[in-house]
Amino acid sequence: MEIRSLVLRSVKALSAYEAKNIPCRIKLDANESPYNLSSEDMDIVRNSLSSLEFNRYPDPQARKLRAVLARRYKVKQSQILLGNGSDELISMLIACFGGPVLYPVPTFSMYGIIAKAAGRRQVEVKLDNDFDIDTGRMLADIKRVNPKLVFLSSPNNPTGNCFSSERVLGIAKTAPGVVVVDEAYQPFARSLGSNVRRGFLPLLKDYRNMVILRTLSKVGLASLRLGIMIASEEIIAEVNKVRLPFNINTLSQEVAIKLLSGKDSSAKAVKLIVKERERMFEEIAEVDGVVAFPSDANFILFKLEDPNMVYNRLLKKGILVRNLDKVIKGCLRVTVGTPQENSAFIEALRMVMK
Ligand code: PMP
Repeated sequence: MEIRSLVLRSVKALSAYEAKNIPCRIKLDANESPYNLSSEDMDIVRNSLSSLEFNRYPDPQARKLRAVLARRYKVKQSQILLGNGSDELISMLIACFGGPVLYPVPTFSMYGIIAKAAGRRQVEVKLDNDFDIDTGRMLADIKRVNPKLVFLSSPNNPTGNCFSSERVLGIAKTAPGVVVVDEAYQPFARSLGSNVRRGFLPLLKDYRNMVILRTLSKVGLASLRLGIMIASEEIIAEVNKVRLPFNINTLSQEVAIKLLSGKDSSAKAVKLIVKERERMFEEIAEVDGVVAFPSDANFILFKLEDPNMVYNRLLKKGILVRNLDKVIKGCLRVTVGTPQENSAFIEALRMVMK
């Protein structure tokens, strides 16, 4: 028996997702926070462990954690669904609503990968020259293919920019299916008003087909794998039907409850990362032969003549960035690290470009 002949056609066409573990001294490739927990928070985590019942299954509904998050996002608990990372929520959304799945490109690769694995049609619509939504093109494609799901990452990975709100809302208004605004990087968005940290959350009540995704991965808790979906009670109840019973493990639930119940201990780190991003942007932009793109996220996309050479020479100096040449010609992406890491990166980039 040939095992491969048993595999679904949609799966045969895939290759396994490779999250590469490349040895380096300064890791600026995965949009993580460079800051581990403070020693106070470490103590909180340690203390919470002794009371856990490791022999029992986790709370299948993660009720306490959802209550904590509901307060944080100012929504009802019944408007929140948790995933093992937002990756899992993307998968649940596609399992629930199916395809076609439409998204602008370049964007976060998992929308396409998960749709493909699920055997759903993917429709990719090019962003415009400013990396914003090309409304004309997107509305035409929406009309043509009638997507069940539209994914909009804003701020967008890997370009770093927010899509303009009017364009996102125009899509939400017109699309016949569910429109997912993936706000993984929203905490880093530049201040455009007092409500910027809330992103599209305040608009949920006006758009019944809108879903918002958040994650703890970019604000210092990537190890917990906690993605947060916020939408109408009706959407949450439907997507909840495809969720596996114990998808959020007890350790992640407990640690997140303890760390998020008090004051927002990630706020200081986020502020520093935003400040460093602005410094890095200016310094990268000043390097001869490099074009940097403005960012609302915790990373910066930049373009140069020979990205493969620069990538390899940075790595030789121990600095790991993401090579996106195959996705956006000539581009590399660097995650904002600690001030020391960022300075080391800038200095290395200057030397390589000389
Ligand atoms: N959405 C976007 C736009 C991302 O860039 C990422 C992480 N790279 C995710 C979602 C997935 O995050 P999580 O760790 O919560 O699965």
